[in-house]
This record gives sequence, structure tokens and C-alpha cells, in this order.
Amino acid sequence: MPEPSSLQDTRNQTEAPLLGAIEAGGTKYVCAVARDPKEPLLEARFPTGEPHETVSQALEFFRKAAAAHGTIRSLGIGTFGPARIDPVAADFGTILTTPKPGWSGFPLVAALRQELGTDLPVTFETDVNAAALGESLHGAAKGIRRVAYVTIGTGIGGGFLEDGRLLHGRLHPEIGHFAVPDLDAAFGKATQVCPFHDSCLEGRASGPAIAARWGKPGHELPDDHPAWELEADYLAIACQQLTAAWSPDLVLLGGGVSQKSGLVERVREAFLRRAGGYWDLPPVHDYIRLPALDQQAGIVGSLILAARAL
Ligand code: ZN
Repeated sequence: MPEPSSLQDTRNQTEAPLLGAIEAGGTKYVCAVARDPKEPLLEARFPTGEPHETVSQALEFFRKAAAAHGTIRSLGIGTFGPARIDPVAADFGTILTTPKPGWSGFPLVAALRQELGTDLPVTFETDVNAAALGESLHGAAKGIRRVAYVTIGTGIGGGFLEDGRLLHGRLHPEIGHFAVPDLDAAFGKATQVCPFHDSCLEGRASGPAIAARWGKPGHELPDDHPAWELEADYLAIACQQLTAAWSPDLVLLGGGVSQKSGLVERVREAFLRRAGGYWDLPPVHDYIRLPALDQQAGIVGSLILAARAL
């Protein structure tokens, strides 16, 4: 359900440059300005609609914010993907092929700069990388060197951070499309909601996959429903793949689905069983954890990106 737009003024800050940020999610946009990324001065959230309408709402917010707090000196954006985040690419700042109506090929950074200033310093990142950054500086991953942040919600994505640096690869990681074995058959099911792949993590374990498989959304399924044993096992496979491919110090499980009571404990059990004692890892309750910033990780991370753009 769309959340009503809200504007909240928090406390006054002076001195440091004014930072602007957008957590550009697939279902909602969060906009904020701050001088200290931990303490947004003004924040607004609204549903992600078609691109021109969504961008005008964001610009309207930044106009009001600038009138109240001064000139915005830089912008940090954590966007849903896929997106061209490489700053030297000709189409930097563009949303790539997506099923979201109107967004494929939309030049988000250019559209914002048109109004906010063509020379405004901008850092454009994935929303999961922004959340990883937020957790790393101010949340559950504070002081930890190599962090994998996995979000499980409408889609599944992963952000990666090593010694403060976000990892990208050629485009950016998309662990939602990790290949996974078919664990559905043992439950007499055959759910796979990704239209591109026969059996991928997002197709099997995202919020929409849970709803399609069991006929109701996850938050309506009781804690002891078999749905959670299956979900935990798919997520444990993802943790094993991350461990094998990259060897992080910490795996954070974020997003709406991860909030399910008891799920992270089940993932840890399934992970230990699947890992077979092969890896030298921290204790599992330290290795696989829930984020600390909850819904704020993405916008705090995007404000840190804005600070880095300066
Ligand atoms: Zn897929």
C-alpha cells in the first residue's frame, strides 16, 4: 500500500555543506537533506510511480529543502537496478532494462541535474550498496572490514563493501539471480517467479515467490509454517555462495522478508548444515545477522554517498 507523503523537520544543524540524497527504491522513494548523514534535517517518502512524476516529486522536495536549509552541495543516490553506476560510462546515471514501466533507459541523474545544476557532484550507486555503506558506518557492520548486505523483499539484491570501498564489477553484483537448486519439489511445490531463469534465488525466495507458492504473503504465514524452513534453506544457499565466492566477515540479511521472527536463526542452522564445517568462520550468530538501521540504512548510506561526492 502506498505510504502517504510526509515531511518532518528534525533538529537544526549548521556549518558542514548541505547534502542531498535519494534512496530510489523500486516501490518507494525516500529523499533527505542533512549536514551529518546520521541526522537528516528533512525527509520525505512517496511511492515510486512513473519516472517523470517521481522525479518532479523529488525535485519539489529539494526545492523546499533548499528554501529552508540553503544550497544543496552534492547528491547521493542509491537506486534500484540494474543501473549504469560507472561514472565514466557514456550513459552514467541511467536505469537499464527493468520491468518497471517507463524506467528502462531513463536518465535519472541527468533529469535531476537539469534542475539541481549540471555541475552538481553526484554519486550514483545501487540501493543495496548504499544500505551496506549505511550499516558499515553507523549500523550492524560498524568496524567490520568485509561486509555482504543481502536484501530480501520484493526482489533480492546484494551490496558488498571492503575497507569502506563498495564493490561493483563490470555493472554491479546481482545476487538475486544466483542459480539455486530446486528445493521446492520436496514440498510438492514448483514456484519460480523470475521470468528470466529456470531456478534463481529471487525467483524462489523473494517476497513475491513466497506469496505465489503459499497463496498469501509471508507476513500472514505463522512462524511454524513450512514456508520458513524452505525460505531459510534457499537463503542458506545464498550465504554459502557468498562465502565461497567472496569470503566476507559478515553477512547481513536485510529487507522485509528477513524481519520474520525466527527466520535468521533458521538460516544460520541451515547454513551450518550446508557449509559442512569446511570454512574457518566467525561464530554463526556473528557471521549471519540482521541489520541495525532497519529502514534507515538506505537513506543514511545515500547521504554518505553525497558526502563522498564532494
Ligand atoms: Zn533470475
